[in-house]
Amino acid sequence: MSKESSAGSISKLIEMLVATGKNYDIEKIRNAADYAGELHAGQFRVSGEPYISHPIAVAEIVASLELDTNSICAALLHDTVEDCSDKTNLKEIEKRFGAEVAMLVDGLTKLVPLYIEDKEEAHIENLRKMLLAMSKDVRVIFIKLCDRLHNMRTLAVKPDPKRRSTALETMHVYAPLAHRLGMQKIKQELENLCISYLDPIGYAEVQTYIQEKYGESVDFIDGVTALVDKTLRDNNIKFALKGRIKSAYSIYRKMYNQNKSFDQIYDFYAMRIIVDTELECYTALGLIHEMFKSIPGRFKDYISTLKPNMYRSLHTTVIGKDGIPFEVQIRTWEMHHVAEYGIAAHWKYKSGEKSKEDMDKKLEWISGLLKRKTEPRIPMSSLMPSKRISFTTRPSFSLPREMCLRFLRGRRL
Ligand code: MN
Repeated sequence: MSKESSAGSISKLIEMLVATGKNYDIEKIRNAADYAGELHAGQFRVSGEPYISHPIAVAEIVASLELDTNSICAALLHDTVEDCSDKTNLKEIEKRFGAEVAMLVDGLTKLVPLYIEDKEEAHIENLRKMLLAMSKDVRVIFIKLCDRLHNMRTLAVKPDPKRRSTALETMHVYAPLAHRLGMQKIKQELENLCISYLDPIGYAEVQTYIQEKYGESVDFIDGVTALVDKTLRDNNIKFALKGRIKSAYSIYRKMYNQNKSFDQIYDFYAMRIIVDTELECYTALGLIHEMFKSIPGRFKDYISTLKPNMYRSLHTTVIGKDGIPFEVQIRTWEMHHVAEYGIAAHWKYKSGEKSKEDMDKKLEWISGLLKRKTEPRIPMSSLMPSKRISFTTRPSFSLPREMCLRFLRGRRL
């Protein structure tokens, strides 16, 4: 990048941060970005882009999780100590940006999982625990996940063996970690990207099915959302409503793991209703069950019994027009935020400084989360670009942005 265009992408990041209206230390962030730009000058990514474009993109993802100034600075500097050791070191980072940023960068520098493809599942689990143990501060894990997400988004330019090993490592270590931390958005994007690299043909097939069904999907979702919209309005509930189809990854999983044909995936459609209060969740549920016939055994109350990763919502599957079933998730805005960002939601910038004790308590709790017995994962041997994959069977049905069928009613999601 010429000096100007590097400066350009830095000012774009700064503009974005200012636009959030949050109380960031913009001066400090700008200094970190300029310093990182200086250190990475002359380095390029495989794509030919200047290297600094990567830490800036990571910082943007970190900011989207609403993490604090120091996390953004650490994201900007995360590759400097390793890749520019002739020009800087942790002492220098500490001198310029303080002990906390240096501690985060140090954690990120050391966080290199020793992934070996043919090791056992137990090894993977240990790896995940190790990742946690190695990071004194959970923000290190958040930033590492953002780093991985950007690397996955830009993996296509890498040669095939590298693509495959990075995607496998992501599938085995980072996507489950994101899930464990309740970060659905990141988890789902990672999973979709993994499949697109590991089994491009299967992934393309799923995409084709989704495309072919698009017109039909729009009609169906539009029909049921209009119905639900009217009923909720008539009952004076303030809500946001979004109809969508399941993620490519979860459709893929059903087709290749459970051997279902595309037409047999009966929870292809989903709807999310977001309301203000817990009570309204149950009211909305009652209304949904009055409007549509529900499928027995498909109702889950994750509000009264929350999942270990803090996920809370009501789930039910009902039968819509022409006997087509669809899943409905009902939650409050707060639950929605936690569902999307997981424990990162607790590190929101406005929450201010955490005391050491508070932090220790939180970390203890997270480490407990990660120690829980995990769901079965994909056997290593099965992850070939072919059809036999046994993934976990958790219900999940979010889509990357471009694939969402958006039918927003009421407030914006
Ligand atoms: Mn990186």
